[in-house]
Amino acid sequence: MAATNAAPTGTAPSLREAFPRLRHLEQHDHGYVRRLEKLQRKTRKFASAYLRPAALEIDRRTGEDPSYFDWDLVRAGARHGMLDFLLPSQIGGGGCLIAECAIVMEELCAACPGLALIFGAHGLGISPLLLDGPLHWDVMAELVESTRGPDPLLMACALTEPDAGTDVEDVDLMARARISSHARRVPGGYSLSGTKRFISNGGVARWLTVLMPVDPKRPAETWTCFLVDAETKGFSVARNEHKMGQRACPASELTFDEVFVPDERLVGRVGDGAGATLIVLAASRPPVGAIATGIARGAYERLLGWLRSDPDAKGLLERQTVQLKLASMAERIHLARQAYMDAAVEMDVGTLGSATRHPLMRSLRVVPNAVHKQRLVRRAVSAPRSRDALARLLGRMADNASVTRSLGLSSLAKARGGDTAMSVTQDALEIAGLTDAPVRLELEKLWRDAKLCQIYEGTNQLNRIEVYRALVAKQTMPALPPVKRRVDAEGVAI
Ligand SMILES: Cc1cc2nc3c(=O)[nH]c(=O)nc-3n(C[C@H](O)[C@H](O)[C@H](O)COP(=O)(O)OP(=O)(O)OC[C@H]3O[C@@H](n4cnc5c(N)ncnc54)[C@H](O)[C@@H]3O)c2cc1C
Repeated sequence: MAATNAAPTGTAPSLREAFPRLRHLEQHDHGYVRRLEKLQRKTRKFASAYLRPAALEIDRRTGEDPSYFDWDLVRAGARHGMLDFLLPSQIGGGGCLIAECAIVMEELCAACPGLALIFGAHGLGISPLLLDGPLHWDVMAELVESTRGPDPLLMACALTEPDAGTDVEDVDLMARARISSHARRVPGGYSLSGTKRFISNGGVARWLTVLMPVDPKRPAETWTCFLVDAETKGFSVARNEHKMGQRACPASELTFDEVFVPDERLVGRVGDGAGATLIVLAASRPPVGAIATGIARGAYERLLGWLRSDPDAKGLLERQTVQLKLASMAERIHLARQAYMDAAVEMDVGTLGSATRHPLMRSLRVVPNAVHKQRLVRRAVSAPRSRDALARLLGRMADNASVTRSLGLSSLAKARGGDTAMSVTQDALEIAGLTDAPVRLELEKLWRDAKLCQIYEGTNQLNRIEVYRALVAKQTMPALPPVKRRVDAEGVAI
């Protein structure tokens, strides 16, 4: 029996094959296309050297014990730039925007979606901090530094609760959501209590961005983001879920028992959390579309490799029914890929791009890291006036209509990608049939991995509701933090 574990040669597309439009863009911005190409090559090399060979064994081990976690692969990822590509270049990170993140995720997921999710969930944890100017650059610098040592630090983002999943991902649903967590005002900061569930990287992260309401009676108005150090008293990991797919990355239940968060670890302002959630989701759904595209591509490439090389599959490739299925798979993968790139470019160029290119943000590049860590500087940037100024800047650089359009395209890419991953892995599994070649186990794993793409980052149902609102009904959602707000004595929006 011929083994098909080796990566099939000649099937993974080059950047220009994957995105035909880049041939035209290249004439205007050769440097950008070269950078994307370099990133794709680097990630593909890392994924085929480290992730693909380990994928099945780690899936087996985490299936038996959901607490098993492969730190060696995280260290390898850190050495190859997989933990800092999203972090600002000003503090030594890769400074990647959404299109670059999406290309990285497609490559990692074509090899192993579970291991890739560790790097993806880390990026999701970082995302809210990127909206808060230089305020948390000291923590982000610590993350960058850790990638150069033996103990890289991970992040996670905690939104979902036992009785509130979809409801906390949509501003309109949030008002009726059954949220049980609460961030209570205490001297010098906030005290966080409650449970968060299904948090990717939750049990292994050192820092978490956590969303909770300051006033449980008005969750949407007071939904707020906090940066939590997992070593703070009162924080604990209750359990890790037994997962069906993407098992290498733990999904944990987290308990917050009066966890103190100082004022300076507030992310944005009190009450800005619902809008920030919308922006973070608009930014993270194109990479999720890319995760799904990578899974579908991984199944397609493995199947094609098997059909071409295994004597067991002899003759199958000459059958027209198989050719039609392969053509349909290639078609679905291509369309899912274009959808995530459209959404990513809209976000990079249209929505977030102008804010990141603003002279103020650029000028921060020349400020040494040590300055950001100084207490007085931190107190100045975290003062309510500075936060209001940042909200004004965001408001000037982008508008709710453009963020809503981005959200619509991102949701379209996420839902299309999730369904593509599911249908392509299923077709691949059906063609491989009952072969006992190793490819069967790989395809079965990818099929299990694919399901999650229809669930996390908002279920496909919720995403299609967003597509309806943003692209069909053309409603505008309140995503940007209001510039002028009335607040009570404790800084809570009224
Ligand atoms: C493995 C895994 C990892 C995850 N990682 C994270 C993470 O890192 N951080 C995090 O915060 N969360 C994470 N999640 C949570 C994930 O985002 C939620 O599971 C998802 O939002 C769905 O919420 P729910 O499971 O409560 O389902 P529900 O919201 O209860 O939905 C159940 C069903 O009802 C449908 N539905 C619900 N409301 C509506 C509506 N208004 N209209 C139409 N249909 C509706 C849904 O589409 C779905 O089919 C993860 C989940 C999983 C399974």
